[in-house]
Amino acid sequence: MDAAPLNDARGSVEDRRPPIEAHADSKEFHMKVLIVYAHPEPRSLNGSLKDLAVKTLESAGHEVQVSDLYGMKWKAVLDAEDYGPSASSPLKVAADSGTAFDTGTLAPEVKAEQEKLLWADTYIFQFPMWWYTMPAILKGWVDRVFTYHFAYGVGEHSDVKYGERFGEGTLLGKRAMLSVTAGGPESHYSDRGINGPIDDLLFPIHHGILYYPGIEVLPPFVLYGTDRTTDEDYPDIAKAWEHRLENLESADPIPFRRQNFGDYEIPSLHLKEGLEPAGRSGFGLHSR
Ligand SMILES: Cc1cc2nc3c(=O)[nH]c(=O)nc-3n(C[C@H](O)[C@H](O)[C@H](O)COP(=O)(O)OP(=O)(O)OC[C@H]3O[C@@H](n4cnc5c(N)ncnc54)[C@H](O)[C@@H]3O)c2cc1C
Repeated sequence: MDAAPLNDARGSVEDRRPPIEAHADSKEFHMKVLIVYAHPEPRSLNGSLKDLAVKTLESAGHEVQVSDLYGMKWKAVLDAEDYGPSASSPLKVAADSGTAFDTGTLAPEVKAEQEKLLWADTYIFQFPMWWYTMPAILKGWVDRVFTYHFAYGVGEHSDVKYGERFGEGTLLGKRAMLSVTAGGPESHYSDRGINGPIDDLLFPIHHGILYYPGIEVLPPFVLYGTDRTTDEDYPDIAKAWEHRLENLESADPIPFRRQNFGDYEIPSLHLKEGLEPAGRSGFGLHSR
């Protein structure tokens, strides 16, 4: 994909650092948090975790916006309607989404989600693991909101640069965390577990979706065995979730490798020989 023209969403790297402001009267930081929440039942465990996140973050002085995808009746599928007058015939999904982004003709609900992403410095995605990944409504949110020239197709291609992505991009400086509930017990998601390691299952979201446009990814909050969770379990769950939320601002991101800073051959984007830590293979190669 080609170089993207500059647009309003982008500025210098410094401009795109997170707008985390210190409170005048305290050492605490003020975060602007976007929670993207995907569950059809407000009284679900996911609904409770979302409500608790809003309460905990707001009581700590942070600003919170929630995109409740089922509540908003979010259209889960990308189609020509998203691009208004910029939709060509035949439809060229990537190119048309870029034109619609550049000319401000994206569907208003898509534009509104992009604006929320630019407003926030921290994102939380709250969802149940369905078929090893996020619910379709949330994947559809990504497909529709992460348009060409906004989340991909950004930056120059040259001998030393392969576009601005994986460590650069429109959302550089933002931070994100997945909060996921899984029905299966933790052992099923361990190194030798039948589902594969949780870090591998989440890699397509962590690396392929969030890190791609520059977002730093915090280690996920994962609850296992949730189909057997009872009301008696909830106080401990709530305590663990509050603890993660209270430490969100200081959490270290997963140390994914940056694309254009010497670790990869360009244009093959192979990790350079010898950079892999002993015994590391597969997805694990792409973090330091
Ligand atoms: C289509 C589909 C695909 C799936 N694929 C996978 C998969 O690939 N891997 C996997 O591991 N699992 C899978 N599952 C299971 C799924 O991940 C779990 O059902 C889900 O994570 C549970 O979250 P929930 O919010 O829906 O829980 P709920 O059903 O709302 O709640 C779970 C339990 O928590 C209890 N609970 C305790 N306190 C509270 C509280 N305060 N608020 C609400 N509930 C509380 C509830 O009473 C209930 O017993 C799948 C399920 C579906 C429907």
